[in-house]
Amino acid sequence: MDCYLCKEPLTPKNDSSEHIIPNSIGGIREVKGFICRKCNGKAGETWDTDLAKQLNKLAVFFRVVRDRGENRAEVIETTAGERLIYDKTSLKLFAPEINKEVKEDGIHFQISANDMKQARQILAGLKRTYPTLDVDKALTSATAQPKYPDGHFHFEFSFGGLSVGKSLVKTALALLSSNGINPNICERANAYIFNNDEPCFGYYYDRDLLINRPIGVPIHCICVRGNKAARTVQAYLEYFGIARIVISLSAGYVGDEFKYAYAIDPTKGQEISVDFDLDFDESDVRKIYEYQLYDPQVALECLHAVLPHEIQRQQEQHLEEVLANSRKAMEQRFAGMSNLDPNEFVEAYIESLKPYIQHLSKTGRLRDR
Ligand SMILES: [Zn+2]
Repeated sequence: MDCYLCKEPLTPKNDSSEHIIPNSIGGIREVKGFICRKCNGKAGETWDTDLAKQLNKLAVFFRVVRDRGENRAEVIETTAGERLIYDKTSLKLFAPEINKEVKEDGIHFQISANDMKQARQILAGLKRTYPTLDVDKALTSATAQPKYPDGHFHFEFSFGGLSVGKSLVKTALALLSSNGINPNICERANAYIFNNDEPCFGYYYDRDLLINRPIGVPIHCICVRGNKAARTVQAYLEYFGIARIVISLSAGYVGDEFKYAYAIDPTKGQEISVDFDLDFDESDVRKIYEYQLYDPQVALECLHAVLPHEIQRQQEQHLEEVLANSRKAMEQRFAGMSNLDPNEFVEAYIESLKPYIQHLSKTGRLRDR
């Protein structure tokens, strides 16, 4: 077997394990005997990196489970203009807020930091300018409490481009290769990958090609089908259930029927089983290339099928965390007290939940429930 990309013969030494679906968005299954180590690095650096950049916000939002590495945090701006660092487990201020006020009795600082460690660093910095500042004393007056953003999150999402297209086609070819079919038979894919000919794919938002789509799952899936009678090899690819692509790999296929698929739930890092209804004739393929089977309403429905589900899941998870944190705070505060005042306990408990309840109220979620 030769490397699909550079045609060097593959040996145990230069063969590479290539993720069929890029690792950056949660792809797990790998293929050997497809491309060499050098090409794996090159394609990963360019095609897959461009894809990873465009899909990183979704990967962070859906908290994809990866077998290697971690997604970088995203800086996002809310509708209220707050700049926040958003990653899979936390939401932090992009920059701590430091407000200075000059009063008769001296200079006052109000500091909002992400944690006590950061607050200490800021105070240590201020001490260089104001040597009389007592850092430890200032820290004892600091209170830790959860803070919610004032605005809503605002995501922009765009997808496409030449090198991203090559990543998509490579994924289809990798699945073929992993099932023992030589990717070199795909003349349309070859012309696009090697000669930058017409892209052999199009974005597809028309009928649902998944026969048993799991509800609410931001699925990654790829299906390749060889059609003996029509002499075609076609592929269908979805990322997060949102990006939907039909690929026409070959229109001169000579061989047996086949259909192979690979699908995962990237939020769990688990393979799932789905079946596909993949069979386009050449006039459909032309329409897909020309965005004629791209219904914006269907594209919107794809988003609505997965985003609210994930938001609800994360809200439920957050409520559990809030309750657990309050319980821990109460245990610490009232530890070893022999005669506990029930009123004091209830008051302290409600106080600890206050930021969360205020957040619910502000976002209208108290009314909705
Ligand atoms: Zn190579």
